[in-house]
Amino acid sequence: MLRIPVYMNGSMLLLAALVTVVYGNWVRSELDLPAPLGYLVGLGFVVCLLGSVLLHELGHALTARRYQIGVRGITLELLGGWTEMDRDAPTPRIDALVSLAGPAVSLLLGGIATAVSMALPDRTLSGQVAFQLAASNLLVAVFNVLPGLPLDGGRALRAGLWALIKDRNRATEVAAWSGRGIAFLCVVIVIWLYRLELVTLFGLAFVLLVVFTLWQGAGQSIRLARMTRRFPLVDLAALARPLLTVPAGTPLGEAQRRRSEDLRPNVVLGVTDSAGNLTALVDPVAAERVPVDRRPWVAVDSVSRSRDAVPALPLGLSGEQVVRALQARPAGQYVVTAGEEVVGVLRVGDVANVLEPRRPRKPAR
Ligand SMILES: [Zn+2]
Repeated sequence: MLRIPVYMNGSMLLLAALVTVVYGNWVRSELDLPAPLGYLVGLGFVVCLLGSVLLHELGHALTARRYQIGVRGITLELLGGWTEMDRDAPTPRIDALVSLAGPAVSLLLGGIATAVSMALPDRTLSGQVAFQLAASNLLVAVFNVLPGLPLDGGRALRAGLWALIKDRNRATEVAAWSGRGIAFLCVVIVIWLYRLELVTLFGLAFVLLVVFTLWQGAGQSIRLARMTRRFPLVDLAALARPLLTVPAGTPLGEAQRRRSEDLRPNVVLGVTDSAGNLTALVDPVAAERVPVDRRPWVAVDSVSRSRDAVPALPLGLSGEQVVRALQARPAGQYVVTAGEEVVGVLRVGDVANVLEPRRPRKPAR
């Protein structure tokens, strides 16, 4: 119908079981129910929570589709899910609408369930179920609307800043730091509540787990924004390594000797057919595995990858287009072409060094 695949994290099942038991125990003593019924209600709470999260995520997904943004799938977690879209929102307004659609759904469901729960008699099973629906939806709405990435509120904050300063990546970084601030505040508050004995040890552990994923998500947003800001520095012409070709059948040792005499830096070895056309690229890992004393007896062809298996990148691509092309066809190396001609070879590690310069640099080879 909607054709959106829904995934669930394995670790969430464990947490769901834990919540079933803890909440089941609580509701059992509260309503004076037999144990199996108590756990059944506990399980009902977990199912309500997951159902609420699914509807919340559908809010994001369907709004995104409305603006021609493709949806790859939905991953469910207990306090929020994750809708994977195939591209970023093109404008701050659409970014804000897609982000806030989820909490809006949760708020609406929570409001309806609250009204129903108030109409039903207290301390009954139907009243308890309605209360669960109200609580789970309001919880999901309130938590996700906190203004820090990776939460929905953080995305809305980013959209606002983006409209204001016209720089999406800077806006992302600020909203992600706000996410880290919120994570820190949550820790302080929940420890304080625990010391006042308003929160159980289980509640403390649960919130700390949620805060930990929040902190990590914020860190990932910061890292991604910094990398995206460096996309224009990916200069295909400058990064392409020069190519030295040898005829098919040349011994590996001889090919490597010719390369060592080539004065250009970071030369990559290629193999040509009798007509002089590039047919393969030497795989540096496979070449390195051949023992030095065997290299005069091994033909370059046997440690090469066919040219057809190596994706091509036309020289005119901008930095961002290069990164998108690498994401679309992941590989270790690419041939850089100008028209029909191969003008060099791009190693994916060289691009990674430009995008994340603090990574330890591998020696160029
Ligand atoms: Zn959401």
